[in-house]
Amino acid sequence: MAHQTKYIFVTGGVLSSLGKGLASASIAALLESRGLRVTLQKLDPYINVDPGTMNPFQHGEVFVTDDGTETDLDIGHYERFTSAHLGKNNNFTTGKIYHSVITKERRGDYLGGTVQVIPHITDEIKACIKCIEHDADVVIVEIGGTIGDIESLPFLEAIRQFRLEAGKENVLYVHLTLVPYIGTAGEVKTKPTQHSVKELRSIGIQPNILICRTDRSLDNDIKRKIALFCNVGIDEVITAKDTKNIYEVPLNFHDEGLDNKIVELLFMWTGAPQLQPWKDLVKKVNHLSSSVTIAVVGKYTDLKESYKSLNEALFHGGVANDCKVLLKYVDSENVTEENAHEMIDGADGILVPGGFGNRGVFGKICTVQYARTEKIPFFGICLGMHVAVIEFARNVAGIEHAHSTEFDPNTPDPIIYLMREWYDEKTKTIQKRTSLSEKGGTMRLGAYSCKLIPDTFAHKAYDTDMISERHRHRYEFNKNYQKKLQDCGMVISGTSPDEALVEIVEIPDHPWFLGCQFHPEFKSKPMQPHPLFRNFIASALQYQTDKA
Ligand code: GLN
Repeated sequence: MAHQTKYIFVTGGVLSSLGKGLASASIAALLESRGLRVTLQKLDPYINVDPGTMNPFQHGEVFVTDDGTETDLDIGHYERFTSAHLGKNNNFTTGKIYHSVITKERRGDYLGGTVQVIPHITDEIKACIKCIEHDADVVIVEIGGTIGDIESLPFLEAIRQFRLEAGKENVLYVHLTLVPYIGTAGEVKTKPTQHSVKELRSIGIQPNILICRTDRSLDNDIKRKIALFCNVGIDEVITAKDTKNIYEVPLNFHDEGLDNKIVELLFMWTGAPQLQPWKDLVKKVNHLSSSVTIAVVGKYTDLKESYKSLNEALFHGGVANDCKVLLKYVDSENVTEENAHEMIDGADGILVPGGFGNRGVFGKICTVQYARTEKIPFFGICLGMHVAVIEFARNVAGIEHAHSTEFDPNTPDPIIYLMREWYDEKTKTIQKRTSLSEKGGTMRLGAYSCKLIPDTFAHKAYDTDMISERHRHRYEFNKNYQKKLQDCGMVISGTSPDEALVEIVEIPDHPWFLGCQFHPEFKSKPMQPHPLFRNFIASALQYQTDKA
């Protein structure tokens, strides 16, 4: 019999931020633990073609996949919770769907027909869902937004139709809702869930499973009530109780019988789930024996979501060292040479993350100077590496006006600059960029190989000669200054295989000082903590011990 792919559509009701991405990732993790091959997809209702140009303040982090797609941050959850390799076909937006339909229309593909939401947009959505089938046993598709939004209607209509075409035994609808506890009434309320499901049914979708987000365990009476009003079985009402850490979610879902129910409803026969790695992880996470404080000096410090992968990677680095990582967010706009000590007081390690634009750059340079001279473990990522190079050039190599052309286009010493031409490993072509290039789609994006030099912090961490990491930037280290900086003590510990691009810089006379052009945080997983984050946290722990 031909391989039959099964589909699980995850929708959300009542309000946003209930953790639909985490719920989808947890379902995937459970199914993977049963030996099934899973993949995931996110369908986002907004009109941007991709989230690349969106402000992280509004939408949280932009996640980047190996193939260089700028995606929604939920793709990060998916990759951290599973072994699925995701890319351009795993995130579609309304903008991308319409773009493709309009391109076809202009090309004359619809031959005089009137192009409409139904069937043209909905057909396009269904084609996008099908395009990731490959060899996956189960495809989990998360629909962004909340039921009742105007924008998500075409997606909901498409997934409604999908079940008719794929067969009801192959498609499952999972709906996430909120069951709030109302203090004055002294009880949990099921009405928001009832309304949300009613809304979903009014557009033709009867959910098969309800995942109810709540701050307490839902007893059988409540479950029975929800089941009755929402037309599902009582064992199809799953409690999703708030957890101390997100890595407990798959285990809690399992205890509620979720994965059993899913395989039953989809007529899948699998082995028992192998959950020991998750149990070990949760046990470890709940018993971390020490703690370090890391100062994250950046721009988007108000919204934790804008540094999602970074926070996770730091957490993983802590788990690898049996230690809790406490984050101290410092707004770089407020940091000066004089107050750096005060602002960053008490940190065992300092991290300057990636970022765009001039705001707060001076404070970041002062931060690097403080970390370098006080010999506090330092980790600079992308823009964080740029400011590390600028600081070193100015204060150690004496290149007084060294700057990045991103911040000062007329600097006499463009130590970080926009490379006009470079060889692109992925497309095997020479890429050209100018300062007038469009903002969307002109970055070095996705996975690139990097060659490591022995006896460096980088090589010690990775313990290998060749690595692959993900990029998202326009500006690069200017090789014309390489010799001068090396003569002053800076070490170039990682380059592109042809040595044309500088990817990692270090200062060796320091407990741990490393800046990288790529974003290592995108590849860290709870069960495979990233080597750079692991060693950065280890050096912060060491610094804390030495300080005491
Ligand atoms: N703004 C810098 C660039 O475009 C750094 C980007 C980043 O930190 N991701 O090169």
